[in-house]
Amino acid sequence: MRDIQHIIDGDNGDILKSSLEYLRFRVIGIMSKMESLSGRNLKPLADVPLGTLRKNATRLHGVCRYNQGIDKRRTDLSPLDVKEVALHPESLKNEWIRYAEFLMFHEFLHALGFSGHNRTFRQLESHWPDTGAKEMGIEFSKYLRQRNAKFAWKCPNCYWQTKRSMRAAGRYICRTCRVKLVDFALTID
Ligand SMILES: [Zn+2]
Ligand SMILES: [Zn+2]
Repeated sequence: MRDIQHIIDGDNGDILKSSLEYLRFRVIGIMSKMESLSGRNLKPLADVPLGTLRKNATRLHGVCRYNQGIDKRRTDLSPLDVKEVALHPESLKNEWIRYAEFLMFHEFLHALGFSGHNRTFRQLESHWPDTGAKEMGIEFSKYLRQRNAKFAWKCPNCYWQTKRSMRAAGRYICRTCRVKLVDFALTID
């Protein structure tokens, strides 16, 4: 049993790596067809190290980390100044892959030297052809919160429930029944 567990874990890392590489291939392909990026050298993006964030990260979905000592305000930043582009591992699951593509595109814009979220950046970002991919971020945040929940708050009357990271501790009532919600600890897998 232990051996099987080990094999599954090992494979999982490889799957993450290959899906990141596949994503990179797709994203660079789409970026190379974007008019607003024509004239930009996208080739160095192929060598930017890719990684994943901690599994239990909830607020951060993606990040572009520059090499140590790099001043983000420099105007000549390039992919060579990038230590790593990392995405949330959950975003690589099939149902979120459109959002993962958008995330990688967003971080690649940073890698190309657009370090801040200024007007130019937002304009370029809005040219991503899969409209609606960016909006998936709201649902993705919700999904991560549920996933990291430690408690279920349940109404003892109608059995409505919601998952949260903190206890209700008698402070919340069911909207319908007006009775106090009860905490149930969720087992962490
Ligand atoms: Zn950003
Ligand atoms: Zn109720």
